[in-house]
Amino acid sequence: MTEAGARLYAEIQAEEEIRTGASIGKAREGAQGPSAEKIQAALELIYEAGLKGRLAIAASGGTDSTVLLDLAGQAGAQGTVIHVKTGMDYPGTAEFVWGQAARVGLSCRMTGPAGDPRAFWEAHGWPMLGKMAARIWTQRHQGRGFTLNCAECCRTFKIGPARRLTKNIGARVQLTGTRGAGESILRRHRQHLDGAMAWNERDRIWVAAPMAGWTDEDVAGYIRARGLEEHPWRARGAETIGCIYCGGGAQFENSGYRLLRGVMPEAWWRFVVGWRGGEIILAVKYDARIDEIREAVTAAGGLERLSQDRPWVFDFLRRRPLKGRAM
Ligand code: SF4
Repeated sequence: MTEAGARLYAEIQAEEEIRTGASIGKAREGAQGPSAEKIQAALELIYEAGLKGRLAIAASGGTDSTVLLDLAGQAGAQGTVIHVKTGMDYPGTAEFVWGQAARVGLSCRMTGPAGDPRAFWEAHGWPMLGKMAARIWTQRHQGRGFTLNCAECCRTFKIGPARRLTKNIGARVQLTGTRGAGESILRRHRQHLDGAMAWNERDRIWVAAPMAGWTDEDVAGYIRARGLEEHPWRARGAETIGCIYCGGGAQFENSGYRLLRGVMPEAWWRFVVGWRGGEIILAVKYDARIDEIREAVTAAGGLERLSQDRPWVFDFLRRRPLKGRAM
C-alpha cells in the first residue's frame, strides 16, 4: 500500500461517530411566525406577479413551497402549480404536491426526471458542499479524479426543467419559495442583485420570490399557525424534502447524509455503496485523490464492508461539522 493509502486507512479506522445536537425540527419548536408586514409583502408580490401574466407556482413538496402555495391560495393567484420530479425525491412527493395544489384550488403539471443523476455527477461533478463552495473547491482541487458541481446539477435536474415547464404551459412568471437572506450566501447575493421579482434573461421569464427574507422560524411559525399539512416523510425524520442524495449541506451539523442513513437506509446504501458516492465523501473529507481513497477503502475490506462496520465515516464532508446549515 502507498504511504497516502496507509495514512488514510488509519484515519478512517480512528474516526469516531459524531453525534450532533438538536435537529432543525427541535430548534423550530416554538418558533415565531413571520410579521404581518412580511405576509402582506408576500401577498402583494404575488398579486403584482399576476399582473405580468400567467403564473407557474413551483412546488417541491418541502416546507417553503408548502407556505408558498398557501400564500398563493390566500392571494387568489391564478396559475398552475408545477413540480419537477428529479428522480431523487422521497416516495409520495408527487402525490403530496398534487394534493397541495388541489387544496388551494389550482391545477398541477409535472415534469422530469431529466436523466440519470449518477451518470451526470460522474461527468459534471458531484452535488456536495453547496453551489459556491463546490465551485471554489473544484478550482482549488484539480487532478483529484472527480469534481464537485451543485450549480450544474440544480440547473439540470431542477431549475432548467421548471423553467421549461413554465414556458410550456404559457406562464410568464414563475413563483418560487426561495428565501434568499434566510438561506445561503449565494442566494443572499442573488436576492440583493435581483430584488424579489426579476426578469431572467437566460430563460426569458419573470421569477418572483414572495418569501424572500423569510427565516426558518418564519416558515415554521407560519406552518404551525395555519395548520398546514407537511410532507409525510417529515414525520419519519426527514428534515428537508429535497433531493435525498444531495450533499449540499453535508459539512454542517444536520448533514443530509447522516439523516438519510437513519431515515431511509436503503437509499443511503444505494448512494454510498451502489453509486460509490461514499468514496467521494471520503475524498472530500480527507482531502485526498480518489485513487488514494480507493486504496484505503480496499484495505478496510471494501466500500460495502466499511459502510456496515463504520457507517458514520460517510456522515459529513468535514472531520468536524460546522454549526448551522446552508445549501
Ligand atoms: S438539490 Fe442537490 S442533488 Fe438536487 S438538483 Fe440541486 S445540487 Fe442536485
